Amino acid sequence: MMWIRFIMMCMFLVTITACSSSPSPIDHDNKNAAQDETKKEEHEIHWSYSGDTGPEYWEALDSSFKACGRGMKQSPINLEDAKANKTSEADIRINYQPSSFTIKNNGHTVQADTNTDENSIVIDDKEYKLVQFHFHVPSEHQMEGKNLDMELHLVHKSEDDQLAVLGVLMKAGKENKTLAELWSKLPKEESEENILLEEEINLSSLLPQDKTAYHYNGSLTTPPCSEGVKWTVFAEPISVSQEQIDLFTSVFPDNHRPVQPWNDRDVYEVLTHEN
Ligand SMILES: [Zn+2]
Repeated sequence: MMWIRFIMMCMFLVTITACSSSPSPIDHDNKNAAQDETKKEEHEIHWSYSGDTGPEYWEALDSSFKACGRGMKQSPINLEDAKANKTSEADIRINYQPSSFTIKNNGHTVQADTNTDENSIVIDDKEYKLVQFHFHVPSEHQMEGKNLDMELHLVHKSEDDQLAVLGVLMKAGKENKTLAELWSKLPKEESEENILLEEEINLSSLLPQDKTAYHYNGSLTTPPCSEGVKWTVFAEPISVSQEQIDLFTSVFPDNHRPVQPWNDRDVYEVLTHEN
Protein backbone atom coordinates (compact mmCIF):
# COMPACT_ATOMS: atom_id res chain seq x y z
CA MET A 1 0.00 0.00 0.00
CA MET A 2 3.06 2.23 0.22
CA TRP A 3 2.83 3.25 -3.43
CA ILE A 4 -0.75 4.49 -2.94
CA ARG A 5 0.41 6.64 -0.06
CA PHE A 6 3.27 7.89 -2.20
CA ILE A 7 0.91 8.86 -5.04
CA MET A 8 -1.49 10.56 -2.62
CA MET A 9 1.42 12.55 -1.16
CA CYS A 10 2.52 13.61 -4.65
CA MET A 11 -1.01 14.73 -5.51
CA PHE A 12 -1.17 16.68 -2.26
CA LEU A 13 2.12 18.42 -3.03
CA VAL A 14 1.03 19.23 -6.57
CA THR A 15 -2.17 20.76 -5.20
CA ILE A 16 -0.28 22.88 -2.68
CA THR A 17 2.17 24.01 -5.35
CA ALA A 18 -0.63 24.85 -7.76
CA CYS A 19 -2.43 26.93 -5.15
CA SER A 20 0.58 29.03 -4.25
CA SER A 21 2.25 28.88 -7.65
CA SER A 22 4.64 31.67 -8.55
CA PRO A 23 4.46 33.17 -12.05
CA SER A 24 5.76 30.98 -14.82
CA PRO A 25 9.29 31.87 -15.93
CA ILE A 26 8.20 32.04 -19.58
CA ASP A 27 7.13 35.56 -20.58
CA HIS A 28 4.53 34.45 -23.03
CA ASP A 29 2.75 32.37 -20.42
CA ASN A 30 2.97 35.21 -17.94
CA LYS A 31 1.14 37.49 -20.30
CA ASN A 32 -1.64 34.98 -20.76
CA ALA A 33 -1.86 34.40 -17.04
CA ALA A 34 -2.12 38.14 -16.45
CA GLN A 35 -4.88 38.42 -19.03
CA ASP A 36 -6.71 35.53 -17.45
CA GLU A 37 -6.34 37.16 -14.06
CA THR A 38 -7.80 40.45 -15.36
CA LYS A 39 -10.70 38.59 -16.90
CA LYS A 40 -11.28 36.79 -13.64
CA GLU A 41 -11.22 40.03 -11.65
CA GLU A 42 -13.66 41.70 -14.04
CA HIS A 43 -15.92 38.75 -13.67
CA GLU A 44 -15.75 38.79 -9.89
CA ILE A 45 -16.21 42.46 -9.02
CA HIS A 46 -18.29 42.28 -5.90
CA TRP A 47 -21.56 44.17 -5.94
CA SER A 48 -24.68 43.82 -3.83
CA TYR A 49 -28.03 45.36 -2.97
CA SER A 50 -27.01 47.09 0.30
CA GLY A 51 -24.20 48.89 2.08
CA ASP A 52 -21.11 50.23 0.33
CA THR A 53 -21.42 47.86 -2.64
CA GLY A 54 -25.15 48.62 -3.04
CA PRO A 55 -26.92 50.24 -6.03
CA GLU A 56 -25.89 53.84 -5.27
CA TYR A 57 -22.21 52.80 -5.38
CA TRP A 58 -22.29 50.43 -8.38
CA GLU A 59 -20.92 53.11 -10.69
CA ALA A 60 -17.85 53.60 -8.49
CA LEU A 61 -17.03 49.90 -8.13
CA ASP A 62 -15.52 49.55 -11.61
CA SER A 63 -15.03 51.63 -14.76
CA SER A 64 -17.10 49.06 -16.67
CA PHE A 65 -20.07 49.92 -14.39
CA LYS A 66 -20.23 53.59 -15.47
CA ALA A 67 -23.67 53.30 -17.05
CA CYS A 68 -25.13 52.43 -13.61
CA GLY A 69 -24.62 56.07 -12.57
CA ARG A 70 -24.36 58.01 -15.81
CA GLY A 71 -26.70 56.18 -18.18
CA MET A 72 -29.75 58.14 -19.31
CA LYS A 73 -31.88 55.10 -20.19
CA GLN A 74 -31.68 53.01 -17.04
CA SER A 75 -34.03 50.38 -15.63
CA PRO A 76 -36.18 49.79 -13.68
CA ILE A 77 -38.64 52.71 -13.82
CA ASN A 78 -41.93 53.64 -12.24
CA LEU A 79 -44.65 52.72 -14.73
CA GLU A 80 -47.51 55.19 -14.59
CA ASP A 81 -50.59 54.87 -16.72
CA ALA A 82 -50.90 58.59 -17.18
CA LYS A 83 -47.39 58.93 -18.57
CA ALA A 84 -47.52 55.84 -20.77
CA ASN A 85 -50.34 57.14 -22.91
CA LYS A 86 -48.80 56.39 -26.27
CA THR A 87 -49.86 53.29 -28.09
CA SER A 88 -47.04 51.36 -29.65
CA GLU A 89 -47.14 50.05 -33.16
CA ALA A 90 -44.61 47.42 -32.05
CA ASP A 91 -45.64 43.89 -32.87
CA ILE A 92 -44.59 41.64 -29.99
CA ARG A 93 -45.15 37.89 -30.37
CA ILE A 94 -44.40 35.35 -27.66
CA ASN A 95 -43.56 31.73 -28.54
CA TYR A 96 -43.26 29.61 -25.41
CA GLN A 97 -43.64 25.88 -24.95
CA PRO A 98 -42.97 23.31 -22.22
CA SER A 99 -39.20 23.17 -21.80
CA SER A 100 -36.44 21.88 -19.57
CA PHE A 101 -34.49 24.19 -17.22
CA THR A 102 -31.62 23.99 -14.75
CA ILE A 103 -31.52 26.36 -11.78
CA LYS A 104 -28.72 27.88 -9.72
CA ASN A 105 -28.15 30.47 -7.01
CA ASN A 106 -25.64 32.93 -8.56
CA GLY A 107 -25.35 35.02 -5.40
CA HIS A 108 -27.69 37.74 -6.74
CA THR A 109 -30.80 35.74 -7.59
CA VAL A 110 -32.05 32.27 -8.42
CA GLN A 111 -31.68 31.84 -12.16
CA ALA A 112 -33.20 29.19 -14.43
CA ASP A 113 -31.12 28.54 -17.55
CA THR A 114 -32.79 27.16 -20.63
CA ASN A 115 -31.75 23.78 -21.97
CA THR A 116 -33.37 24.40 -25.37
CA ASP A 117 -33.65 27.19 -27.93
CA GLU A 118 -37.32 26.71 -28.62
CA ASN A 119 -38.63 29.65 -26.55
CA SER A 120 -38.49 33.06 -28.15
CA ILE A 121 -40.17 36.42 -28.58
CA VAL A 122 -40.36 38.33 -31.85
CA ILE A 123 -40.39 42.13 -31.75
CA ASP A 124 -41.05 43.76 -35.12
CA ASP A 125 -39.83 40.68 -37.02
CA LYS A 126 -36.63 40.40 -34.98
CA GLU A 127 -36.28 37.17 -33.02
CA TYR A 128 -34.89 37.06 -29.47
CA LYS A 129 -34.33 33.60 -27.98
CA LEU A 130 -34.90 32.92 -24.29
CA VAL A 131 -31.62 32.54 -22.38
CA GLN A 132 -32.72 32.49 -18.74
CA PHE A 133 -35.27 33.72 -16.25
CA HIS A 134 -34.83 34.91 -12.67
CA PHE A 135 -36.57 36.72 -9.83
CA HIS A 136 -36.38 39.90 -7.77
CA VAL A 137 -37.92 40.68 -4.39
CA PRO A 138 -39.61 43.12 -4.09
CA SER A 139 -40.42 44.04 -7.71
CA GLU A 140 -37.97 46.33 -9.54
CA HIS A 141 -40.51 48.14 -11.72
CA GLN A 142 -43.07 50.13 -9.83
CA MET A 143 -46.73 50.42 -10.75
CA GLU A 144 -48.15 53.86 -9.99
CA GLY A 145 -45.28 54.50 -7.58
CA LYS A 146 -45.51 51.21 -5.69
CA ASN A 147 -43.32 48.10 -5.68
CA LEU A 148 -45.13 44.80 -5.91
CA ASP A 149 -44.08 41.68 -3.96
CA MET A 150 -41.80 40.13 -6.61
CA GLU A 151 -40.84 40.37 -10.28
CA LEU A 152 -39.94 37.72 -12.85
CA HIS A 153 -37.53 38.62 -15.66
CA LEU A 154 -37.45 36.51 -18.83
CA VAL A 155 -34.22 37.40 -20.62
CA HIS A 156 -33.97 36.94 -24.41
CA LYS A 157 -31.10 37.55 -26.81
CA SER A 158 -31.04 38.08 -30.58
CA GLU A 159 -28.43 36.66 -32.93
CA ASP A 160 -26.62 40.02 -32.86
CA ASP A 161 -26.57 39.98 -29.03
CA GLN A 162 -29.35 42.52 -28.44
CA LEU A 163 -31.38 41.91 -25.29
CA ALA A 164 -35.15 41.93 -24.83
CA VAL A 165 -36.62 41.25 -21.38
CA LEU A 166 -40.21 40.43 -20.45
CA GLY A 167 -41.04 41.61 -16.93
CA VAL A 168 -43.87 39.97 -14.98
CA LEU A 169 -44.93 41.54 -11.68
CA MET A 170 -45.91 39.11 -8.92
CA LYS A 171 -48.41 39.73 -6.17
CA ALA A 172 -49.27 37.74 -3.03
CA GLY A 173 -52.32 35.55 -3.60
CA LYS A 174 -52.85 32.00 -4.83
CA GLU A 175 -49.93 29.58 -4.89
CA ASN A 176 -48.10 29.60 -8.21
CA LYS A 177 -48.16 25.92 -9.21
CA THR A 178 -45.93 26.43 -12.26
CA LEU A 179 -43.13 27.42 -9.89
CA ALA A 180 -43.76 24.61 -7.36
CA GLU A 181 -40.86 22.34 -8.34
CA LEU A 182 -38.44 25.24 -8.81
CA TRP A 183 -39.37 26.59 -5.39
CA SER A 184 -39.04 23.14 -3.77
CA LYS A 185 -35.43 23.03 -5.05
CA LEU A 186 -34.58 26.69 -4.41
CA PRO A 187 -30.80 26.64 -3.73
CA LYS A 188 -30.17 28.42 -0.42
CA GLU A 189 -26.45 29.09 -0.97
CA GLU A 190 -24.54 30.60 -3.89
CA SER A 191 -23.12 27.76 -5.96
CA GLU A 192 -21.83 26.79 -9.40
CA GLU A 193 -24.01 23.72 -9.19
CA ASN A 194 -26.77 23.47 -11.78
CA ILE A 195 -29.87 21.70 -10.53
CA LEU A 196 -31.98 20.05 -13.21
CA LEU A 197 -35.74 20.45 -12.87
CA GLU A 198 -37.43 17.14 -13.62
CA GLU A 199 -40.67 18.66 -14.84
CA GLU A 200 -40.83 20.88 -17.89
CA ILE A 201 -42.02 24.45 -17.38
CA ASN A 202 -44.39 26.13 -19.81
CA LEU A 203 -43.50 29.79 -19.45
CA SER A 204 -46.86 30.73 -20.98
CA SER A 205 -48.46 29.84 -17.68
CA LEU A 206 -46.25 32.43 -15.97
CA LEU A 207 -47.74 35.24 -18.08
CA PRO A 208 -50.84 37.17 -16.98
CA GLN A 209 -54.11 36.65 -18.86
CA ASP A 210 -54.27 40.25 -19.97
CA LYS A 211 -51.33 40.68 -22.35
CA THR A 212 -51.29 44.49 -22.18
CA ALA A 213 -47.78 45.67 -21.39
CA TYR A 214 -45.52 48.71 -21.11
CA HIS A 215 -42.77 48.84 -23.70
CA TYR A 216 -39.69 51.06 -23.35
CA ASN A 217 -35.93 51.22 -23.93
CA GLY A 218 -33.90 50.59 -20.79
CA SER A 219 -30.95 48.72 -19.36
CA LEU A 220 -29.84 45.70 -17.37
CA THR A 221 -30.92 46.25 -13.75
CA THR A 222 -27.65 44.73 -12.50
CA PRO A 223 -24.04 45.83 -13.15
CA PRO A 224 -22.76 46.70 -15.72
CA CYS A 225 -26.25 48.28 -16.30
CA SER A 226 -25.71 48.13 -20.09
CA GLU A 227 -28.31 50.05 -22.10
CA GLY A 228 -30.05 49.06 -25.32
CA VAL A 229 -32.33 46.57 -23.58
CA LYS A 230 -35.90 46.38 -24.93
CA TRP A 231 -38.26 46.10 -21.96
CA THR A 232 -41.84 44.80 -22.04
CA VAL A 233 -43.47 44.76 -18.60
CA PHE A 234 -46.99 43.36 -18.25
CA ALA A 235 -49.50 45.64 -16.54
CA GLU A 236 -51.35 42.81 -14.81
CA PRO A 237 -49.45 40.91 -12.08
CA ILE A 238 -49.48 37.13 -11.65
CA SER A 239 -50.05 35.33 -8.34
CA VAL A 240 -47.54 33.81 -5.98
CA SER A 241 -48.43 32.68 -2.45
CA GLN A 242 -47.17 34.48 0.64
CA GLU A 243 -45.37 31.22 1.59
CA GLN A 244 -43.57 31.25 -1.78
CA ILE A 245 -42.59 34.89 -1.30
CA ASP A 246 -41.37 34.14 2.24
CA LEU A 247 -39.26 31.21 1.04
CA PHE A 248 -37.57 33.32 -1.65
CA THR A 249 -37.08 36.17 0.84
CA SER A 250 -35.36 33.76 3.25
CA VAL A 251 -32.69 33.27 0.55
CA PHE A 252 -32.66 36.85 -0.86
CA PRO A 253 -34.17 39.35 1.61
CA ASP A 254 -33.99 42.17 -0.99
CA ASN A 255 -32.49 41.94 -4.49
CA HIS A 256 -34.10 44.89 -6.27
CA ARG A 257 -32.57 47.98 -7.81
CA PRO A 258 -34.48 51.20 -7.03
CA VAL A 259 -36.36 52.96 -9.86
CA GLN A 260 -34.35 55.22 -12.19
CA PRO A 261 -35.27 58.55 -13.84
CA TRP A 262 -37.39 58.46 -17.02
CA ASN A 263 -35.28 61.23 -18.62
CA ASP A 264 -37.98 62.06 -21.17
CA ARG A 265 -38.12 58.57 -22.57
CA ASP A 266 -41.28 57.35 -24.25
CA VAL A 267 -43.09 54.48 -22.58
CA TYR A 268 -45.67 52.82 -24.79
CA GLU A 269 -48.67 50.73 -24.02
CA VAL A 270 -48.65 47.65 -26.22
CA LEU A 271 -50.77 44.53 -26.62
CA THR A 272 -48.55 41.45 -26.92
CA HIS A 273 -49.64 38.24 -28.64
CA GLU A 274 -48.98 34.56 -28.04
CA ASN A 275 -48.42 32.30 -31.01
ZN1 LIG B 1 -33.69 40.94 -13.39
